[in-house]
Amino acid sequence: MPDRARQASGAAQGTRLGQSRLDPLIAGLSPSATLAINELSADLIAAGRDVIRLGLGQSPFPVPAPVVAALQRHAHEKAYLPVRGLPALRDAFADYLQRTEGLSYDPGLVLVGPGTKELIFLLQLVHAGDLLVPSPSWVSYAPQAAIAGRRVHWLDTRFSQGLRLTAAVLQAHCENNPGRPGLLILNYPCNPTGVTYSAEQLQGIAEVARRFGVVVLSDEIYSGLDFGGHHQSIARYYPEGTIISNGLSKWCGAGGWRIGACAFPEELDWLAQAMATVASETFTAVSAPIQHAAVLAFEGGDEMELYLDRSRCLLKSLMGYAARRLRASGATVAEPQGGFYLFPRFCDTNAHLSGSARPLTSGHLCRELLEQTGVAALPGSDFGRPPEELSLRLAAVHFDGEAALSAMAEFSEGTAPDDEFLRGYCQPTLRGLDLLSDWLDEH
Ligand code: PLP
Repeated sequence: MPDRARQASGAAQGTRLGQSRLDPLIAGLSPSATLAINELSADLIAAGRDVIRLGLGQSPFPVPAPVVAALQRHAHEKAYLPVRGLPALRDAFADYLQRTEGLSYDPGLVLVGPGTKELIFLLQLVHAGDLLVPSPSWVSYAPQAAIAGRRVHWLDTRFSQGLRLTAAVLQAHCENNPGRPGLLILNYPCNPTGVTYSAEQLQGIAEVARRFGVVVLSDEIYSGLDFGGHHQSIARYYPEGTIISNGLSKWCGAGGWRIGACAFPEELDWLAQAMATVASETFTAVSAPIQHAAVLAFEGGDEMELYLDRSRCLLKSLMGYAARRLRASGATVAEPQGGFYLFPRFCDTNAHLSGSARPLTSGHLCRELLEQTGVAALPGSDFGRPPEELSLRLAAVHFDGEAALSAMAEFSEGTAPDDEFLRGYCQPTLRGLDLLSDWLDEH
């Protein structure tokens, strides 16, 4: 760079060009503890250490063959699609909700986006109200609210209740915040806890939401991985106030394809309209071949059903094993009911973790664990838990899901894989759980 230009640049004066113009809402966001763990993992791997990745929540399974074939067939599609999405995909998503949940959504009120994450952000951008989320919840809801300038209310949960939101807690929040009904995001099977909700629990929450005019976003991205195969949307009990989001990232193994959809009830068509307006000025439309392929995923069929049955069956055994193993080493863990996450809390029985040398925060705990065992997990604080609570999120996904699903073909339908199968096919995840348990036992 010529000298004159260098002098003119902010870099030479100790600040970057225009840095003072960084939007204060964004400047207020800090990098998460997750990032620190990812960076440390990368350093350890670069130094030749073996790191078992139980941090990132990516499906271990391949995209089902018929869906891949559909993508190949449609690779030549090149036109911009309508901003709300390919009509056939909107139909397929509405049919999917009818088939799996018995819910009627108008395909005209379906909005397709590049991942549900983007759709959830758009919703928070256009809905001028507070965000209500149970603690713990997925890492991105609260930062998105901060970017959109919304206030975040973390709703209390208890380990003794599986860290589920209760109707009573929602009601107390609404009574204490009159005139601010807000947007409640409920996600189950839950990232990070792996729990789901019973019909009675959903009815209770729905009844309070209706009474106080709370809009509910039911984030159903893990619905296809409910171990019982009987996911129930809260929309069954609060159809007029519930938006459903779902996509291909988790139960269809296609996180990197970036596609998701939202379905709106007629009462909330104004939100769909506003989100479509913002979408038209930002991402325009999701890639055409991906939308064509997604039609097949939502349409289902025998091969999809088999894939889902095997995924659920394997995950049920794996997550059950993980919970038992950690409990035996003194952790408090809710019984997992779907997805691939566990949210253990350590302290009750482990002398090291309750004594004076205990790690100060869940971020410190993750760091210690990673350095001493090579197991990467995420700190509970990134999910809205108090930093001093020694909780963490484990994603049991570091294994060859394709090989494991193929091996499942040897089992007769519904037969659960045993520990020996898990030892053979779910490595290095199982080794990571053993290392973690041994570490706890030793401390
Ligand atoms: N919701 C939850 C609870 C998630 O765990 C994720 C991804 O990890 C998302 C939404 C976003 O998924 P995507 O943007 O891939 O559809």
